[in-house]
Amino acid sequence: QQEEWAKLLNEKTLSSDGTQVELVANIGSPNDLDGVLRHGGEGVGLYRTEFLYMGRDNLPTEDEQFIAYKTVLEGMDGKPVVIRTLDIGGDKHLPYLPLPEEMNPFLGHRAIRLCLDRQDIFRTQLRALLRASNYGNLKIMFPMIATLQEFRSAKAILLEEKANLLAAGEAVSETIEIGIMVEIPSTAVMADTFAKEVDFFSIGTNDLIQYTMAADRMNEKVSYLYQPYNPAILRLVKMVIDASHKEGKWTGMCGEMAGDEHAVPLLLGLGLDEFSMSATSILKTRSLIKRLSKVDMQALATEALQLATADEVLEKVKQIVK
Ligand code: PEP
Ligand code: MG
Repeated sequence: QQEEWAKLLNEKTLSSDGTQVELVANIGSPNDLDGVLRHGGEGVGLYRTEFLYMGRDNLPTEDEQFIAYKTVLEGMDGKPVVIRTLDIGGDKHLPYLPLPEEMNPFLGHRAIRLCLDRQDIFRTQLRALLRASNYGNLKIMFPMIATLQEFRSAKAILLEEKANLLAAGEAVSETIEIGIMVEIPSTAVMADTFAKEVDFFSIGTNDLIQYTMAADRMNEKVSYLYQPYNPAILRLVKMVIDASHKEGKWTGMCGEMAGDEHAVPLLLGLGLDEFSMSATSILKTRSLIKRLSKVDMQALATEALQLATADEVLEKVKQIVK
């Protein structure tokens, strides 16, 4: 098995009937790049930048961030790199940025909400990203977008910082794609509207499942409700993918579901373009997709969308994909 996977290291990811998808990696630091390349990653689908801010006692400077982003972009040598802006709050806290206690931190002042409020922090990160854009194929992604207004505000700030840099004589890439994470149900439902304004979607199923099922992703008492195969989740995923394609945009997935062997057949059938997962899952997933026919998986997905429960969906997948 290891030998078969090794042969796939530098191959494209094609289904048995020739549909190509991209298998990329989730990373938390430039140190993870080595693993991405060793496991045949076709790019980075999610760089969680919050780790740059954690385990220290002050904010990272613009230059510190610039170096980290440039290292990742250069390391990937022109392959796509999706960098997510700061997603702090919820379960992640910074000792030097005290946030008020909240009754429901996962429904609270986190991620893009915090960044739009603390624009000093946000703008520093955006400048570092824009300056680093000259060194590779950068795509910028905003987390926890719930409304179109939030996306427009975040994008306007990004474009302002870009104009400032250009005016100061700095170079900025002209081909940076700007996308959002779809991890809040309102955004999945409104995907057709968002698709007209964003360059891409990346579905964050870790949060999308928690918010759709109203089940805390860390609470074992309600883990039975944390159901990736629930048809409600599959229907939301379908809405997002279809909406993006209608506008000529692409959709990826960077939640754990993207590397789940029983979800991959469904996601291929639903038309997902990019699967982002831990580097160690990439070759195994490439080998799986090679054995799946896109046409058959489309039929499987169509059936699954009409089933009543998560268990029925999982059963069906297991029946079809042996
Ligand atoms: C997600 O919510 O699916 C995701 C990828 O982001 P995180 O796990 O960092 O919240
Ligand atoms: Mg998330």
